[in-house]
Amino acid sequence: MAQGTLLIQTDRCKGCGLCIRACPQQVLVAGQHLNALGYQPVQLDEALRRCTGCGVCAWVCPDLVFTVYRESAGRAG
Ligand code: SF4
Ligand code: SF4
Repeated sequence: MAQGTLLIQTDRCKGCGLCIRACPQQVLVAGQHLNALGYQPVQLDEALRRCTGCGVCAWVCPDLVFTVYRESAGRAG
C-alpha cells in the first residue's frame, strides 16, 4: 500500500472535522492545542502510520489546509 504524509497549515484550520470523518484510514485527529483562530487544528496521528496519501482530506477541506505527498511505489518491473 502506498505511503503518504501531509503538510498541515494548522493556522488555517477551523476544526470543522470534515477531514476527520472523511479519512478512509482514520489517521486524522483533533489536536490538543488551539491555533491562532481559537480552534483545535487537525493533526496526523503519526503513530498509526497508515496515511496512504489518497488526498481525500485535501478534497473535502474547505480551507486548503492540506498538501498531500504520496511516496512512489517504485517501478513494478
Ligand atoms: S491523505 Fe488520505 S489517508 Fe492520508 S490523512 Fe488524508 S484522507 Fe487520510
Ligand atoms: S476539513 Fe479543513 S478546516 Fe475542517 S477540520 Fe479538517 S483541516 Fe480543519
